Amino acid sequence: MRSKLVKIEKMEVVSQLAASISHEIRNPLTVVKGFIQLLKTPSLPQNTKDRYIQIALDEINRAEAIINDYLTFAKPTSDKVECLMVNEELQKVVQMLAPMAHMNSIEIVKKLEPGAIVGNIQYFQQCFLNLLKNSIEAMPNGGTLTISSRLHGNHVIITIKDTGVGMTAEQVNRFGEPYFSTKDKGTGLGTMVAVKTIQAMQGKLHIESEVNKGTTLTITFPKAAD
Ligand code: ADP
Ligand code: MG
Repeated sequence: MRSKLVKIEKMEVVSQLAASISHEIRNPLTVVKGFIQLLKTPSLPQNTKDRYIQIALDEINRAEAIINDYLTFAKPTSDKVECLMVNEELQKVVQMLAPMAHMNSIEIVKKLEPGAIVGNIQYFQQCFLNLLKNSIEAMPNGGTLTISSRLHGNHVIITIKDTGVGMTAEQVNRFGEPYFSTKDKGTGLGTMVAVKTIQAMQGKLHIESEVNKGTTLTITFPKAAD
């Protein structure tokens, strides 16, 4: 009964996100198309051509970043809801991000205890990929990323702690708001996807952050029935 309830909400979120991604990708594609058409203008000066080409490349990079925030793990079975072990899935995501962390002199500390929840594996992975990537990006000069999972009563608690730039109260408030980004080439979509996924899996998110000290995210999910 419980997994059925989760499934209905999940499907809604998946179709909502699928609708947003086609919308998000269409904008940069329209810009690319426009500038490629302009490039066909006869006798354009070389510096104008170069500028148009750069704009088209920037927009293609933006489209790629948007796809990475939504669909890194997308498969045709994207709406499947099952029992997943958070420690195993987090381990996989951490492994994917290890090279990025290494390049930025970030130490990763894992304290992953087994815990089962009900949800969609691809969205779970996408959610934590987005959150962990933000933590890494918050530490451009290195630091420590601590990720933990543990059982607590009927819940599974996951924490992600970084020693990065932190957020102001206003930034904490806007966490998860579409297009809110403090980064040069940010999408402001990674946290939106993460927050929606956590909600769909009946989870709760708590943020603690201090500027120049770091951020701790605490995500609590109902434990799967044994
Ligand atoms: P993007 O990463 O493309 O900027 P996100 O939606 O992933 O978009 O994140 C939105 C904003 O939330 C970021 O630009 C940043 O300001 C803030 N943020 C998210 N996670 C952290 C973190 N761990 N530390 C500091 N700021 C963060
Ligand atoms: Mg991000």
